[in-house]
Amino acid sequence: MKNIYGMTYKNFEDYFINMGEKSFKATQVFEWLYEKRVTMFDEMTNIKKSVVLSLKKDFTMDPLKIIDIRKDKDVAKYLFELQDGEKVEAVLMHHDYGNSLCVSTQVGCNMGCKFCESGRLKKRRNLEVYEMVLQLLMIEEDFKGRISHVVLMGIGEPFDNYDNVMAFIDIINHPKGIAIGARHITISTCGVIPKIKEFMKEKRQVNLAISLHAPNDELRSRLMNINKVYPLHELIPVLKEYINLTHRRLTFEYIMLKGINDHEADAKELSMLLRGINCYVNLIPYNETSHIEYEKSSKEQILKFYDVLKKNKINVTIRKEFGGNVFAACGQLRSHHEEEK
Ligand code: SAH
Repeated sequence: MKNIYGMTYKNFEDYFINMGEKSFKATQVFEWLYEKRVTMFDEMTNIKKSVVLSLKKDFTMDPLKIIDIRKDKDVAKYLFELQDGEKVEAVLMHHDYGNSLCVSTQVGCNMGCKFCESGRLKKRRNLEVYEMVLQLLMIEEDFKGRISHVVLMGIGEPFDNYDNVMAFIDIINHPKGIAIGARHITISTCGVIPKIKEFMKEKRQVNLAISLHAPNDELRSRLMNINKVYPLHELIPVLKEYINLTHRRLTFEYIMLKGINDHEADAKELSMLLRGINCYVNLIPYNETSHIEYEKSSKEQILKFYDVLKKNKINVTIRKEFGGNVFAACGQLRSHHEEEK
């Protein structure tokens, strides 16, 4: 049986048309699920009995299990257990502009970034659509608030689970559903070129962030295995094409690793690489993990790096640090639980 939270609006329309019902039933079901948030089919009182019976026969409404929550001042980290016992995490961050949720897209990850905790576990499987939707619904229920922004920056590579990720976005973005604006949704990728090409053709208003982390192929290949398959010198032209086609501004994420990619010379090289590209760079203080060979850059070094980019007229921001005390780097809470076993 399928979990109902994996159904897009379009899937529901097709489902109802197939059974000889009117497609507007999709609106009714979406309202029950995402506005009124019922948890039992029998609560869908404006839908006729025979249709409720079909829904019961075809779908479950089973939630996930939350097995750990770590809360700090403006951040909360949730560990979920999935129905097959796998675990993933999601992080809720309270900003002055709203609440943003960082969701996981896979169990484990195969991208093999050297500094990242998530990759400690090789990909076991993709997350199903409902498993992404339920991260959001269950966290909203827990903190009794609304999530305004979603970033796909948890465990996994979203472009290695493309179809499910797009269906997830369809559901949370749909005006009859959770209605999170596309411009409030950000997909982060380490640079899977064929999927970036596919994504740009869809012309969605969703933001794209690229995990860059190095200004040249030599260093990037040392830090990120994906660069051996899709190197920077191929990635950058594709990103230029993306901007031309979508007229959207790109985000580059750049984690600051002490003594590795944080020299002023790296900042100069980065400025050259990005010159003329409609983008901004988000400098991310590294969250230290069990990869002890990587340390976070000092505040002074991050500021120096920032200044070089500014001087070269590159838009740049420094990401606020969240959740050092709650294992907030993707994969950390999960890893921590595995160790305790
Ligand atoms: N696979 C996707 C999305 C998940 S990672 C991607 O690579 O973009 C989300 C972001 O967090 C990436 O930029 C990733 O490089 C970064 N990241 C990974 N480990 C980190 C850590 N310990 N501290 C800070 N950022 C980290």
